[in-house]
Amino acid sequence: MAEATLTFPPDFLWGTATAAHQVEGGNTNNDWWQWEQGGGGRIYEDQVSGEACGWWKPGGAEADIQRMKALNTNAHRLSIEWSRIEPEPGRWDHAALDRYREILKAMQKAHIQPMITLHHFTNPIWLAEQGEDGQTGWLHPGVVGLFRRFVEKAVSDLSDLCETWCTINEPTIFGSHGYFLGKWPPGHTSLREYLTVVRHQLQAHAAAYTVIHDLQPGAKVGLAHHMVDWHPRHPHSPLDRAVVRLLDQAMNRLVLDTLKTGWWQPPVGSKVELADVRNTLDWIGLNYYVRYDAGFSLRALKSLGIAYDARPGAVRGPGGWGEFYPDGLFACLRRLHQHFGLPIHITESGLPDLNDSLRPAFLARYLQRVWKAIQFNWPIMSYYVWSLVDNFEWAEGYDPRFRFGLYTVDWETGERTLTTSGQLYAEVAGTGTLTSDMVRRYAPDAFDDLFPGQGPADMHRLVASSAPG
Ligand code: BGC
Repeated sequence: MAEATLTFPPDFLWGTATAAHQVEGGNTNNDWWQWEQGGGGRIYEDQVSGEACGWWKPGGAEADIQRMKALNTNAHRLSIEWSRIEPEPGRWDHAALDRYREILKAMQKAHIQPMITLHHFTNPIWLAEQGEDGQTGWLHPGVVGLFRRFVEKAVSDLSDLCETWCTINEPTIFGSHGYFLGKWPPGHTSLREYLTVVRHQLQAHAAAYTVIHDLQPGAKVGLAHHMVDWHPRHPHSPLDRAVVRLLDQAMNRLVLDTLKTGWWQPPVGSKVELADVRNTLDWIGLNYYVRYDAGFSLRALKSLGIAYDARPGAVRGPGGWGEFYPDGLFACLRRLHQHFGLPIHITESGLPDLNDSLRPAFLARYLQRVWKAIQFNWPIMSYYVWSLVDNFEWAEGYDPRFRFGLYTVDWETGERTLTTSGQLYAEVAGTGTLTSDMVRRYAPDAFDDLFPGQGPADMHRLVASSAPG
């Protein structure tokens, strides 16, 4: 039987993604470690990151790099930990830099191209405390220069092993969770602080962009932006539409527009020119997970009447997560392409799944949307699955419902087991194609929507509709 074959470009990067604090273990010198020690329900079952996936130990990361190879991937996005490299202001830890060199060399040997993220949520304790008058850490404007200094050191030491740099991961998630929702360190709940932090992250990104290009003119530098696909709960309700506009501006457009225009235009407060931020992208990174229906609700008066949730009946993630919605990935890609016209890296895409029961079908659907975007000639360069292995999921700790790994991890023994999603991804990455045969074998739940007209019910309909009338 003829099989459908969706073919990806030969130079497409098939990757996985991780972040230092979530996999390395023993990161005792950052603000997250401190936060974890505080208990009081901040983290699922008051867990701590502890040894995480053991990447920092000799051979730890290397063993998982062999798993990247076994998945047939040719790229990996990892982050380096500022608090290890600069344990005290201005003091560099050469042993830490050497360990990163070892990891990067192991990747090179395995033909895995690295993308290094320079800031993925965690901060050295000294940085979190620097500043005055209640303006510490990322609230203090001095953070921009301090980040620039760190980037300069890290990139001078590692640039022979890495060409693609992701300056900052998800300014809006870092800002909202730590400074507006109060769920992550430093646990604040202020809209004004959220905006200040996002602005400083964009300025830090711009400073890093310049410094990296000074040191490594051929480098490719971008940032990973988390996009949520917002929809009005009632498409014709002006109030719901206004709420969606506001959320979209505060979470999506704030970053996109400032990077493009150099004008910072927050939903509240005045417009400010940040000329240095304009044109500081060689590529744009998309982290996409879910869509939400949003609208005005009297029951949400504590949050200005803003309510959002998954659509009733939708397949959604655990703990208040939104809907897994593959068309949302496509919509975000279209939007990024129209907005910037730059190469796009899908720096994160994945879903938490206790038993890997939903993930294979969704992975197939997401990949089909990526393929579709490429057919429109949009420059989609890569797909990095979040994540290679289950890992420390921030406030969700090691809650089993938040298993993201293509390899699932037994936290008692550290043993890794390849999931069905991992098997599917390995075949896709190994062949550069997604075929109907793969979907039938690994993700049968997605078969009918990806290849309609082949199931028995569809056949019946097709035959009936083509019968001579
Ligand atoms: C973050 C990751 C996180 C993932 C899943 C992204 O927002 O960059 O660190 O683990 O989402 O929640």
